[in-house]
Amino acid sequence: MIKIDDYIPVVGQAVIDDLKRISEKLKDRKIKNINSTPVGGGVAEILSRLVPLLNELGIQTCWDVIKGGENFFEVTKKFHNAIHGKKEDISKRDFEIFLKTSEENISQIRTEEDIIFIHDPQPIALIENKKDNKWIWRCHIDASNPDKKVWNFLKKFIINYDAVVFSAPAFSSPLPVRQFLISPSIDPLSEKNRELKKEEIESVLKKYNIPKDKPLLTQISRFDRLKDPIGVIEVYKRVKKNVDCRLLLAGGTAIDDPEGMEVYYEVLEKAKHDKDIIILNMQHNDFEVNALQRASDVILQKSIKEGFGLTVAEALWKEKPVVASNVGGISLQITHKYSGMLCYSIDGAAFAVKQILNNPAYGKKLGLNGKEHIKNNFLITRHLKEYMLLFLSLYHNKDIIYF
Ligand code: UDP
Repeated sequence: MIKIDDYIPVVGQAVIDDLKRISEKLKDRKIKNINSTPVGGGVAEILSRLVPLLNELGIQTCWDVIKGGENFFEVTKKFHNAIHGKKEDISKRDFEIFLKTSEENISQIRTEEDIIFIHDPQPIALIENKKDNKWIWRCHIDASNPDKKVWNFLKKFIINYDAVVFSAPAFSSPLPVRQFLISPSIDPLSEKNRELKKEEIESVLKKYNIPKDKPLLTQISRFDRLKDPIGVIEVYKRVKKNVDCRLLLAGGTAIDDPEGMEVYYEVLEKAKHDKDIIILNMQHNDFEVNALQRASDVILQKSIKEGFGLTVAEALWKEKPVVASNVGGISLQITHKYSGMLCYSIDGAAFAVKQILNNPAYGKKLGLNGKEHIKNNFLITRHLKEYMLLFLSLYHNKDIIYF
């Protein structure tokens, strides 16, 4: 069990003292988080770390997950893609499916805590249960250019919240609700990010039969078209023409993402004639993700759209050179040619990977700068502070507060 004081060596005594001071003011408040999957994806990753730490700080915080059938999650996946700006064919029936499952959750999930913290669109309609408590809607998606039909549908719920949180300034949207800008974070002490011994890393490479005789390029992400795994294979193929290397695509699934297996099979098909492409459909295992990221020479994140991209922060924290698309929250994390490489195309990504493989000292420098940037901006201690200030602000009347 990680204690709040364990973070002192990482972020300093003053930061932890601040957290304790602020938490004193919230000791009599109860908070409930609600999302749509207990594992898989960034939201579950963040909640799995924030909830125990808020409790450690003395704020009673719990986490509940809505239920839904495959048809509900097919609809919410379309919503997800449409908010990201992808053209989706969303019918009247889809909205009906969404509302029907929402009704079931509205009647089953208790929401009497002081603050109800709803994550992403799947549980958004629970706001119909609002009494005199405070409700926050946390949008983890890049909503800078949403499909109007879906956004207007969701807006009917959003306007009843007390506050809305986006990850980046560019995602905020004209709404008659107070907006807060709070970026996500990683936990440096979690099983996913803690330091590992060489033998621990090697044990995972051995388990999955991954030799280290060639440079290893890795993308770890859910098998989702917006993560562009096929594009990653194209990048690898272009790199391999000049520099012999191996590609690892590792990912798990999430119950709220029904497309995962379909994309996984597409990727297997695309990779089937190349022994140097390793595809892992992993069960959720933070230790193994940690080891695979640390074993890699270059981390790719070739997303087409991205809310924040925790995988980028995780890799930078491990001092890895990262080549990633300049989309969504990735641009908050990487300054091009300083703390990683931003790319706009397959050719651009391949060029950046080759540059790093041909000049390991340059890659090392990018990784070191990246770690410093993550340390200063995207650790869980900053996130805890901003969430606690957000909770406190709900009891004060101000128009807009930017953290
Ligand atoms: N992840 C994991 N196992 C996998 C694939 C992803 O643990 O097989 C984790 C990854 O390490 C990160 C999170 O899931 O912590 C993904 O968050 P991100 O913001 O990168 O993307 P999202 O899936 O939320 O779109």
